[in-house]
Amino acid sequence: MIHQLETDYLVIGAGAMGMAFSDVIMTESNATIVLVDKHDRPGGHWNVSYPFVRLHQPSSFYGVNSRKLGNDTKDATGWNQGLYELASGTEVVTYFEQVMQQQFLPTDRVRYFPMCEFQSAGTFSCLVSGKKYAVKVNRKTVDSTYMNVTVPAMSEPSFELEPEVTCVPLNDIPGLHSRGTRFEKYIVIGAGKTGMDAALWLLRNDVDPDHIIWIMPRVSWMLDRKNIQPGPDFMGSTLVGAANELEAIAQSESVEDLFARVNKCGQLLRMDEDIQPTMYRCATVTEMELKQLRRIAHIVRKGRVKRIEADKIILEKGMVETSLNNLHINCTADGLERRPVAPVFDGDQMTLQTVRTCQQVFSAAFIAHIELTYEDETQKNDLCTVVPHPNTDLDFLRTTLGHHLNQARWAQLPELQKWLQIARLDGFTRTDEEIAALPESAHEPLAKLMGNATQATERLQQLLAEIDRN
Ligand SMILES: Cc1cc2nc3c(=O)[nH]c(=O)nc-3n(C[C@H](O)[C@H](O)[C@H](O)COP(=O)(O)OP(=O)(O)OC[C@H]3O[C@@H](n4cnc5c(N)ncnc54)[C@H](O)[C@@H]3O)c2cc1C
Repeated sequence: MIHQLETDYLVIGAGAMGMAFSDVIMTESNATIVLVDKHDRPGGHWNVSYPFVRLHQPSSFYGVNSRKLGNDTKDATGWNQGLYELASGTEVVTYFEQVMQQQFLPTDRVRYFPMCEFQSAGTFSCLVSGKKYAVKVNRKTVDSTYMNVTVPAMSEPSFELEPEVTCVPLNDIPGLHSRGTRFEKYIVIGAGKTGMDAALWLLRNDVDPDHIIWIMPRVSWMLDRKNIQPGPDFMGSTLVGAANELEAIAQSESVEDLFARVNKCGQLLRMDEDIQPTMYRCATVTEMELKQLRRIAHIVRKGRVKRIEADKIILEKGMVETSLNNLHINCTADGLERRPVAPVFDGDQMTLQTVRTCQQVFSAAFIAHIELTYEDETQKNDLCTVVPHPNTDLDFLRTTLGHHLNQARWAQLPELQKWLQIARLDGFTRTDEEIAALPESAHEPLAKLMGNATQATERLQQLLAEIDRN
Protein backbone atom coordinates (compact mmCIF):
# COMPACT_ATOMS: atom_id res chain seq x y z
CA MET A 1 0.00 0.00 0.00
CA ILE A 2 1.26 3.49 -0.88
CA HIS A 3 0.61 6.29 1.62
CA GLN A 4 -0.42 9.56 -0.01
CA LEU A 5 0.91 12.91 1.23
CA GLU A 6 0.45 16.47 0.03
CA THR A 7 2.84 19.38 0.58
CA ASP A 8 4.04 22.67 -0.87
CA TYR A 9 7.75 21.75 -0.84
CA LEU A 10 9.22 18.27 -0.91
CA VAL A 11 12.82 18.65 0.30
CA ILE A 12 15.12 15.69 -0.37
CA GLY A 13 17.88 15.62 2.25
CA ALA A 14 17.87 17.02 5.79
CA GLY A 15 21.58 17.83 5.72
CA ALA A 16 22.80 21.34 6.42
CA MET A 17 21.55 22.64 3.07
CA GLY A 18 18.10 21.05 3.28
CA MET A 19 17.73 22.41 6.82
CA ALA A 20 18.93 25.93 5.96
CA PHE A 21 16.59 26.03 2.95
CA SER A 22 13.59 24.76 4.95
CA ASP A 23 14.26 27.23 7.75
CA VAL A 24 13.83 30.25 5.45
CA ILE A 25 10.70 28.71 3.89
CA MET A 26 9.35 28.30 7.43
CA THR A 27 10.18 31.81 8.62
CA GLU A 28 9.32 33.75 5.46
CA SER A 29 6.15 31.93 4.32
CA ASN A 30 3.26 29.77 5.47
CA ALA A 31 4.20 26.92 3.17
CA THR A 32 4.27 23.28 4.22
CA ILE A 33 7.29 21.01 3.83
CA VAL A 34 7.92 17.28 3.66
CA LEU A 35 11.57 16.57 4.52
CA VAL A 36 12.96 13.15 3.60
CA ASP A 37 16.37 11.82 4.63
CA LYS A 38 18.19 8.51 4.74
CA HIS A 39 19.81 9.37 8.09
CA ASP A 40 18.26 8.82 11.49
CA ARG A 41 18.82 12.48 12.46
CA PRO A 42 19.08 15.77 10.59
CA GLY A 43 22.55 17.14 9.83
CA GLY A 44 23.59 14.94 6.89
CA HIS A 45 27.26 14.01 6.76
CA TRP A 46 27.89 15.57 10.19
CA ASN A 47 26.26 12.36 11.55
CA VAL A 48 29.19 10.30 10.30
CA SER A 49 32.02 12.77 10.75
CA TYR A 50 35.18 11.96 12.68
CA PRO A 51 34.94 12.53 16.45
CA PHE A 52 37.37 15.44 16.47
CA VAL A 53 35.83 17.27 13.49
CA ARG A 54 35.02 20.94 13.96
CA LEU A 55 33.56 23.49 11.61
CA HIS A 56 36.21 25.04 9.43
CA GLN A 57 34.57 28.46 9.79
CA PRO A 58 33.15 30.31 12.79
CA SER A 59 29.92 28.85 14.19
CA SER A 60 28.40 32.32 14.16
CA PHE A 61 27.46 32.06 10.49
CA TYR A 62 26.76 28.34 10.15
CA GLY A 63 23.52 26.37 10.58
CA VAL A 64 20.15 27.94 9.82
CA ASN A 65 19.30 31.61 9.63
CA SER A 66 16.80 31.72 12.50
CA ARG A 67 18.83 30.09 15.27
CA LYS A 68 22.18 30.94 16.77
CA LEU A 69 24.88 28.24 16.80
CA GLY A 70 27.39 28.52 19.65
CA ASN A 71 27.98 31.41 22.00
CA ASP A 72 29.87 33.87 19.81
CA THR A 73 32.93 33.46 21.98
CA LYS A 74 36.53 33.53 20.85
CA ASP A 75 38.77 30.57 21.63
CA ALA A 76 41.03 31.36 24.58
CA THR A 77 43.37 28.42 24.01
CA GLY A 78 44.47 26.06 21.26
CA TRP A 79 45.50 26.67 17.69
CA ASN A 80 42.37 28.68 16.88
CA GLN A 81 43.15 31.01 19.77
CA GLY A 82 41.80 34.53 19.42
CA LEU A 83 39.39 33.56 16.65
CA TYR A 84 35.68 32.77 16.86
CA GLU A 85 34.67 29.33 18.11
CA LEU A 86 34.28 26.40 15.72
CA ALA A 87 31.42 24.04 16.64
CA SER A 88 32.30 20.37 17.00
CA GLY A 89 30.50 17.77 14.87
CA THR A 90 28.44 16.73 17.90
CA GLU A 91 27.36 20.33 18.49
CA VAL A 92 26.37 20.69 14.82
CA VAL A 93 24.24 17.53 14.89
CA THR A 94 22.63 18.48 18.22
CA TYR A 95 21.89 21.94 16.84
CA PHE A 96 20.12 20.59 13.73
CA GLU A 97 18.16 18.15 15.90
CA GLN A 98 17.01 21.08 18.06
CA VAL A 99 16.00 23.05 14.99
CA MET A 100 13.92 20.09 13.87
CA GLN A 101 12.39 19.19 17.24
CA GLN A 102 11.96 22.65 18.75
CA GLN A 103 11.26 24.81 15.72
CA PHE A 104 10.11 22.84 12.67
CA LEU A 105 7.94 20.02 14.01
CA PRO A 106 5.89 22.01 16.58
CA THR A 107 4.50 24.19 13.76
CA ASP A 108 2.79 21.17 12.14
CA ARG A 109 3.91 22.62 8.82
CA VAL A 110 6.91 20.32 8.55
CA ARG A 111 6.62 16.56 8.29
CA TYR A 112 9.97 14.85 8.67
CA PHE A 113 10.70 11.35 7.40
CA PRO A 114 14.08 10.11 8.67
CA MET A 115 15.41 6.74 7.53
CA CYS A 116 13.61 7.22 4.23
CA GLU A 117 15.02 7.18 0.74
CA PHE A 118 13.69 9.32 -2.06
CA GLN A 119 13.28 7.38 -5.28
CA SER A 120 11.77 9.45 -8.08
CA ALA A 121 8.70 11.40 -9.11
CA GLY A 122 7.62 12.26 -5.58
CA THR A 123 7.95 8.76 -4.14
CA PHE A 124 10.03 7.58 -1.20
CA SER A 125 10.15 4.61 1.10
CA CYS A 126 11.24 3.83 4.63
CA LEU A 127 14.57 2.02 4.76
CA VAL A 128 13.46 0.15 7.90
CA SER A 129 9.87 -0.90 7.31
CA GLY A 130 9.72 -0.61 3.54
CA LYS A 131 6.60 1.58 3.87
CA LYS A 132 6.05 3.51 0.63
CA TYR A 133 4.91 7.12 0.19
CA ALA A 134 3.78 9.18 -2.79
CA VAL A 135 3.77 12.96 -2.43
CA LYS A 136 1.59 15.43 -4.30
CA VAL A 137 3.83 18.51 -4.47
CA ASN A 138 1.98 21.80 -4.88
CA ARG A 139 5.02 24.02 -5.42
CA LYS A 140 8.51 22.52 -5.77
CA THR A 141 10.59 19.40 -5.30
CA VAL A 142 13.92 20.55 -3.86
CA ASP A 143 17.01 18.40 -4.31
CA SER A 144 19.50 19.21 -1.55
CA THR A 145 21.65 16.14 -2.29
CA TYR A 146 23.23 17.36 -5.53
CA MET A 147 26.48 18.50 -3.87
CA ASN A 148 27.10 14.79 -3.16
CA VAL A 149 29.24 15.24 -0.05
CA THR A 150 31.36 12.21 0.86
CA VAL A 151 33.47 11.89 3.98
CA PRO A 152 36.03 9.08 4.56
CA ALA A 153 33.66 7.01 6.72
CA MET A 154 31.19 6.86 3.83
CA SER A 155 33.49 5.35 1.23
CA GLU A 156 35.92 2.48 0.81
CA PRO A 157 39.56 3.41 0.06
CA SER A 158 40.14 4.01 -3.65
CA PHE A 159 43.39 1.97 -3.45
CA GLU A 160 44.12 -1.71 -2.89
CA LEU A 161 45.11 -3.00 0.53
CA GLU A 162 46.86 -6.19 1.56
CA PRO A 163 44.69 -7.78 4.26
CA GLU A 164 47.14 -7.48 7.15
CA VAL A 165 47.73 -3.72 6.64
CA THR A 166 46.04 -1.41 9.17
CA CYS A 167 44.28 1.34 7.22
CA VAL A 168 41.35 3.20 8.75
CA PRO A 169 39.28 6.32 8.06
CA LEU A 170 40.31 9.09 10.45
CA ASN A 171 37.07 8.45 12.38
CA ASP A 172 38.77 5.41 13.94
CA ILE A 173 42.06 6.87 15.20
CA PRO A 174 40.93 8.01 18.67
CA GLY A 175 39.11 4.70 19.35
CA LEU A 176 42.04 2.53 18.26
CA HIS A 177 44.30 4.31 20.75
CA SER A 178 41.72 4.26 23.54
CA ARG A 179 41.62 0.50 23.15
CA GLY A 180 45.37 0.41 23.71
CA THR A 181 46.70 -0.15 20.19
CA ARG A 182 50.04 1.55 19.55
CA PHE A 183 51.74 2.30 16.27
CA GLU A 184 55.30 2.98 15.18
CA LYS A 185 54.50 5.52 12.47
CA TYR A 186 51.46 7.22 11.04
CA ILE A 187 50.87 7.54 7.31
CA VAL A 188 48.36 10.29 6.54
CA ILE A 189 46.96 9.75 3.05
CA GLY A 190 45.42 12.87 1.49
CA ALA A 191 46.35 16.53 1.20
CA GLY A 192 42.95 18.12 1.77
CA LYS A 193 41.42 19.59 4.89
CA THR A 194 40.67 16.09 6.24
CA GLY A 195 44.34 15.15 5.93
CA MET A 196 45.26 18.39 7.71
CA ASP A 197 42.80 17.58 10.50
CA ALA A 198 44.30 14.08 10.91
CA ALA A 199 47.84 15.50 11.03
CA LEU A 200 46.82 18.18 13.56
CA TRP A 201 45.12 15.55 15.75
CA LEU A 202 48.33 13.50 15.83
CA LEU A 203 50.45 16.55 16.66
CA ARG A 204 47.98 17.66 19.33
CA ASN A 205 48.43 14.25 20.90
CA ASP A 206 52.21 14.72 20.98
CA VAL A 207 53.10 12.34 18.18
CA ASP A 208 56.67 13.10 17.15
CA PRO A 209 56.46 14.81 13.72
CA ASP A 210 59.27 12.52 12.56
CA HIS A 211 56.87 9.62 13.05
CA ILE A 212 54.37 11.06 10.60
CA ILE A 213 54.57 10.49 6.86
CA TRP A 214 52.17 12.61 4.84
CA ILE A 215 51.19 11.44 1.39
CA MET A 216 50.22 14.50 -0.62
CA PRO A 217 49.28 13.79 -4.22
CA ARG A 218 48.57 17.51 -4.66
CA VAL A 219 49.52 20.64 -2.77
CA SER A 220 46.78 22.92 -1.57
CA TRP A 221 46.27 26.65 -1.35
CA MET A 222 44.67 27.47 1.98
CA LEU A 223 42.64 30.36 3.37
CA ASP A 224 43.77 32.09 6.54
CA ARG A 225 40.88 31.67 8.99
CA LYS A 226 41.56 35.04 10.55
CA ASN A 227 40.34 36.62 7.30
CA ILE A 228 36.91 35.02 7.53
CA GLN A 229 35.91 36.25 10.97
CA PRO A 230 32.67 38.10 11.61
CA GLY A 231 31.93 41.05 13.88
CA PRO A 232 33.33 44.50 14.55
CA ASP A 233 36.60 43.23 16.10
CA PHE A 234 37.67 41.76 12.78
CA MET A 235 35.99 44.23 10.47
CA GLY A 236 39.16 46.29 10.02
CA SER A 237 41.44 43.32 9.30
CA THR A 238 39.00 41.53 6.96
CA LEU A 239 38.50 44.78 5.08
CA VAL A 240 42.24 45.29 4.70
CA GLY A 241 42.60 41.65 3.57
CA ALA A 242 39.82 41.90 1.00
CA ALA A 243 41.15 45.25 -0.28
CA ASN A 244 44.68 43.85 -0.65
CA GLU A 245 43.36 40.79 -2.46
CA LEU A 246 41.40 42.83 -4.99
CA GLU A 247 44.39 45.12 -5.56
CA ALA A 248 46.65 42.08 -6.05
CA ILE A 249 44.24 40.60 -8.61
CA ALA A 250 43.74 43.92 -10.40
CA GLN A 251 47.50 44.43 -10.76
CA SER A 252 48.40 40.84 -11.70
CA GLU A 253 50.19 40.29 -14.96
CA SER A 254 49.62 36.54 -15.28
CA VAL A 255 48.05 33.66 -13.36
CA GLU A 256 51.40 32.92 -11.66
CA ASP A 257 51.77 36.57 -10.75
CA LEU A 258 48.22 36.65 -9.36
CA PHE A 259 48.92 33.74 -7.02
CA ALA A 260 52.26 35.24 -5.97
CA ARG A 261 50.58 38.55 -5.11
CA VAL A 262 47.58 37.03 -3.32
CA ASN A 263 49.97 34.80 -1.38
CA LYS A 264 52.20 37.76 -0.52
CA CYS A 265 49.30 39.72 0.93
CA GLY A 266 48.37 36.75 3.12
CA GLN A 267 44.99 35.92 1.60
CA LEU A 268 46.19 32.52 0.33
CA LEU A 269 48.63 30.41 2.31
CA ARG A 270 50.70 27.36 1.42
CA MET A 271 52.60 24.72 3.34
CA ASP A 272 55.89 25.23 1.54
CA GLU A 273 56.83 28.59 0.02
CA ASP A 274 58.93 26.78 -2.63
CA ILE A 275 56.14 24.61 -3.98
CA GLN A 276 53.37 25.97 -6.19
CA PRO A 277 50.01 24.46 -5.13
CA THR A 278 47.70 23.04 -7.79
CA MET A 279 44.68 22.52 -5.56
CA TYR A 280 42.21 24.94 -3.99
CA ARG A 281 39.20 23.66 -2.05
CA CYS A 282 38.62 26.42 0.49
CA ALA A 283 40.56 24.65 3.24
CA THR A 284 41.06 27.04 6.15
CA VAL A 285 43.94 27.13 8.64
CA THR A 286 45.28 29.46 11.26
CA GLU A 287 48.87 30.60 11.41
CA MET A 288 49.36 28.39 14.47
CA GLU A 289 47.95 25.33 12.69
CA LEU A 290 50.15 25.99 9.69
CA LYS A 291 53.19 26.27 11.93
CA GLN A 292 52.33 22.87 13.39
CA LEU A 293 51.74 21.25 10.00
CA ARG A 294 55.10 22.53 8.79
CA ARG A 295 56.78 20.46 11.51
CA ILE A 296 56.04 17.37 9.40
CA ALA A 297 59.09 16.99 7.21
CA HIS A 298 58.42 13.66 5.54
CA ILE A 299 56.04 14.62 2.75
CA VAL A 300 55.58 12.16 -0.11
CA ARG A 301 54.80 13.80 -3.45
CA LYS A 302 54.59 10.79 -5.74
CA GLY A 303 50.96 10.94 -6.79
CA ARG A 304 48.04 8.92 -5.51
CA VAL A 305 48.32 5.69 -3.57
CA LYS A 306 47.60 2.65 -5.74
CA ARG A 307 48.25 -0.16 -3.29
CA ILE A 308 49.47 -0.66 0.28
CA GLU A 309 51.45 -3.83 0.92
CA ALA A 310 52.95 -5.14 4.16
CA ASP A 311 56.28 -3.35 3.58
CA LYS A 312 55.63 -0.72 0.92
CA ILE A 313 53.17 1.78 -0.42
CA ILE A 314 52.95 1.84 -4.18
CA LEU A 315 52.08 5.23 -5.62
CA GLU A 316 51.49 6.51 -9.14
CA LYS A 317 55.05 7.83 -9.35
CA GLY A 318 57.11 5.64 -7.04
CA MET A 319 56.97 3.90 -3.72
CA VAL A 320 57.65 4.50 -0.04
CA GLU A 321 58.48 2.01 2.70
CA THR A 322 56.00 1.12 5.38
CA SER A 323 55.47 -1.67 7.90
CA LEU A 324 52.71 -3.64 9.58
CA ASN A 325 53.40 -1.62 12.74
CA ASN A 326 52.26 1.57 11.00
CA LEU A 327 48.78 3.08 10.97
CA HIS A 328 47.60 4.24 7.54
CA ILE A 329 44.95 6.92 7.84
CA ASN A 330 42.66 7.28 4.87
CA CYS A 331 41.74 10.94 4.30
CA THR A 332 41.06 10.64 0.59
CA ALA A 333 37.27 11.10 0.34
CA ASP A 334 36.24 13.85 -2.01
CA GLY A 335 34.29 15.95 0.52
CA LEU A 336 32.47 18.27 -1.81
CA GLU A 337 33.06 17.51 -5.47
CA ARG A 338 33.22 20.05 -8.27
CA ARG A 339 29.93 19.14 -9.92
CA PRO A 340 28.53 20.31 -13.26
CA VAL A 341 26.25 23.30 -12.82
CA ALA A 342 22.51 22.54 -12.91
CA PRO A 343 19.83 25.25 -13.03
CA VAL A 344 18.79 26.09 -9.47
CA PHE A 345 15.23 26.83 -10.61
CA ASP A 346 13.79 24.58 -13.31
CA GLY A 347 9.99 24.59 -13.39
CA ASP A 348 8.73 22.61 -10.41
CA GLN A 349 12.24 21.31 -9.58
CA MET A 350 14.96 23.05 -7.60
CA THR A 351 18.59 21.95 -7.20
CA LEU A 352 20.45 23.54 -4.29
CA GLN A 353 24.04 24.58 -5.05
CA THR A 354 26.49 27.21 -3.86
CA VAL A 355 25.94 30.81 -4.91
CA ARG A 356 28.71 32.19 -2.70
CA THR A 357 32.13 30.53 -2.60
CA CYS A 358 32.14 27.53 -0.25
CA GLN A 359 29.16 28.86 1.71
CA GLN A 360 26.69 25.99 1.43
CA VAL A 361 24.27 26.89 4.19
CA PHE A 362 24.19 30.58 3.29
CA SER A 363 23.51 29.56 -0.32
CA ALA A 364 20.61 27.27 0.60
CA ALA A 365 19.01 29.98 2.75
CA PHE A 366 19.56 32.62 0.05
CA ILE A 367 17.98 30.40 -2.63
CA ALA A 368 14.92 29.90 -0.38
CA HIS A 369 14.56 33.67 0.00
CA ILE A 370 14.81 34.16 -3.77
CA GLU A 371 12.24 31.40 -4.31
CA LEU A 372 9.76 33.18 -2.07
CA THR A 373 10.46 36.76 -3.12
CA TYR A 374 10.86 36.80 -6.90
CA GLU A 375 8.53 35.52 -9.63
CA ASP A 376 10.47 35.39 -12.85
CA GLU A 377 12.50 32.19 -13.24
CA THR A 378 15.17 33.82 -15.42
CA GLN A 379 15.74 36.52 -12.82
CA LYS A 380 15.80 33.89 -10.04
CA ASN A 381 18.44 31.84 -11.84
CA ASP A 382 20.41 34.99 -12.58
CA LEU A 383 20.43 35.97 -8.90
CA CYS A 384 21.35 32.39 -8.02
CA THR A 385 24.16 31.98 -10.52
CA VAL A 386 26.02 28.94 -9.26
CA VAL A 387 29.58 29.31 -7.98
CA PRO A 388 30.68 25.65 -8.19
CA HIS A 389 32.77 24.16 -5.41
CA PRO A 390 36.45 24.63 -6.35
CA ASN A 391 38.95 21.88 -6.91
CA THR A 392 42.04 23.17 -8.73
CA ASP A 393 44.16 26.29 -8.23
CA LEU A 394 42.51 27.87 -11.28
CA ASP A 395 39.14 27.44 -9.61
CA PHE A 396 40.30 30.15 -7.20
CA LEU A 397 40.00 32.56 -10.14
CA ARG A 398 36.64 31.12 -11.22
CA THR A 399 35.07 31.18 -7.77
CA THR A 400 36.42 34.65 -6.97
CA LEU A 401 34.97 35.98 -10.22
CA GLY A 402 31.64 34.17 -9.70
CA HIS A 403 31.46 35.51 -6.18
CA HIS A 404 32.07 39.12 -7.20
CA LEU A 405 29.63 38.97 -10.11
CA ASN A 406 26.92 37.66 -7.79
CA GLN A 407 27.69 40.37 -5.22
CA ALA A 408 27.29 42.95 -7.98
CA ARG A 409 23.95 41.46 -9.09
CA TRP A 410 22.67 41.41 -5.51
CA ALA A 411 23.77 45.00 -4.91
CA GLN A 412 21.25 46.19 -7.53
CA LEU A 413 18.29 45.15 -5.36
CA PRO A 414 17.77 47.17 -2.15
CA GLU A 415 15.36 44.54 -0.75
CA LEU A 416 18.00 41.86 -1.17
CA GLN A 417 20.71 44.02 0.40
CA LYS A 418 18.50 44.48 3.46
CA TRP A 419 17.95 40.73 3.68
CA LEU A 420 21.68 40.07 3.40
CA GLN A 421 22.52 42.64 6.06
CA ILE A 422 20.37 40.92 8.65
CA ALA A 423 20.83 37.30 7.55
CA ARG A 424 22.69 35.44 10.31
CA LEU A 425 24.29 33.13 7.74
CA ASP A 426 25.79 36.08 5.88
CA GLY A 427 29.03 36.72 7.71
CA PHE A 428 30.15 39.41 5.30
CA THR A 429 27.54 41.98 4.20
CA ARG A 430 27.78 45.07 6.40
CA THR A 431 24.95 47.38 7.35
CA ASP A 432 25.10 51.05 6.39
CA GLU A 433 25.47 51.86 10.12
CA GLU A 434 28.45 49.49 10.44
CA ILE A 435 30.12 51.10 7.44
CA ALA A 436 29.41 54.58 8.77
CA ALA A 437 30.90 53.62 12.13
CA LEU A 438 34.17 52.46 10.59
CA PRO A 439 37.19 54.17 12.13
CA GLU A 440 39.28 56.59 10.12
CA SER A 441 41.89 53.85 9.58
CA ALA A 442 39.36 51.82 7.55
CA HIS A 443 38.68 54.57 5.02
CA GLU A 444 41.77 53.88 2.96
CA PRO A 445 41.20 50.09 2.57
CA LEU A 446 37.52 50.73 1.84
CA ALA A 447 38.47 53.15 -0.93
CA LYS A 448 41.03 50.62 -2.21
CA LEU A 449 38.38 47.90 -2.21
CA MET A 450 35.89 49.98 -4.17
CA GLY A 451 38.58 51.37 -6.46
CA ASN A 452 39.89 47.96 -7.52
CA ALA A 453 36.61 46.03 -7.78
CA THR A 454 35.91 46.62 -11.47
CA GLN A 455 39.52 46.23 -12.56
CA ALA A 456 39.90 42.99 -10.56
CA THR A 457 36.74 41.55 -12.12
CA GLU A 458 37.95 42.45 -15.61
CA ARG A 459 41.39 41.01 -14.91
CA LEU A 460 39.87 37.71 -13.76
CA GLN A 461 37.72 37.58 -16.89
CA GLN A 462 40.78 38.23 -19.10
CA LEU A 463 42.92 35.61 -17.36
CA LEU A 464 40.17 33.00 -17.50
CA ALA A 465 39.55 33.73 -21.18
CA GLU A 466 43.27 33.17 -21.82
CA ILE A 467 43.15 29.88 -19.89
CA ASP A 468 40.10 28.72 -21.86
CA ARG A 469 41.81 29.60 -25.16
CA ASN A 470 44.90 27.50 -24.37
C1 LIG B 1 34.98 18.03 7.72
C2 LIG B 1 34.11 19.05 7.09
C3 LIG B 1 34.03 20.34 7.62
C4 LIG B 1 33.23 21.30 7.02
N1 LIG B 1 33.19 22.55 7.53
C5 LIG B 1 32.41 23.48 6.94
C6 LIG B 1 32.32 24.79 7.44
O1 LIG B 1 32.94 25.13 8.43
N2 LIG B 1 31.53 25.67 6.81
C7 LIG B 1 30.83 25.34 5.70
O2 LIG B 1 30.11 26.17 5.15
N3 LIG B 1 30.89 24.10 5.20
C8 LIG B 1 31.66 23.18 5.78
N4 LIG B 1 31.73 21.94 5.26
C9 LIG B 1 30.98 21.67 4.06
C10 LIG B 1 29.69 20.94 4.42
O3 LIG B 1 29.71 19.79 3.66
C11 LIG B 1 28.48 21.78 4.19
O4 LIG B 1 28.49 22.88 5.05
C12 LIG B 1 27.16 21.06 4.45
O5 LIG B 1 27.21 20.29 5.62
C13 LIG B 1 26.75 20.23 3.29
O6 LIG B 1 25.44 19.85 3.56
P1 LIG B 1 24.55 19.18 2.48
O7 LIG B 1 23.17 19.26 2.98
O8 LIG B 1 24.87 19.76 1.15
O9 LIG B 1 25.08 17.67 2.37
P2 LIG B 1 24.91 16.41 3.29
O10 LIG B 1 25.38 16.67 4.64
O11 LIG B 1 25.57 15.30 2.54
O12 LIG B 1 23.34 16.14 3.33
C14 LIG B 1 22.65 15.51 2.30
C15 LIG B 1 21.60 14.64 2.94
O13 LIG B 1 20.84 14.06 1.89
C16 LIG B 1 20.49 12.76 2.26
N5 LIG B 1 20.18 12.02 1.05
C17 LIG B 1 20.99 11.79 -0.02
N6 LIG B 1 20.33 11.08 -0.95
C18 LIG B 1 19.09 10.87 -0.46
C19 LIG B 1 17.94 10.18 -0.96
N7 LIG B 1 17.91 9.58 -2.16
N8 LIG B 1 16.84 10.14 -0.18
C20 LIG B 1 16.84 10.74 1.04
N9 LIG B 1 17.89 11.40 1.55
C21 LIG B 1 18.99 11.46 0.80
C22 LIG B 1 21.68 12.24 3.01
O14 LIG B 1 21.29 11.20 3.88
C23 LIG B 1 22.15 13.50 3.76
O15 LIG B 1 21.63 13.55 5.06
C24 LIG B 1 32.51 20.96 5.86
C25 LIG B 1 32.59 19.67 5.33
C26 LIG B 1 33.37 18.72 5.93
C27 LIG B 1 33.44 17.34 5.31
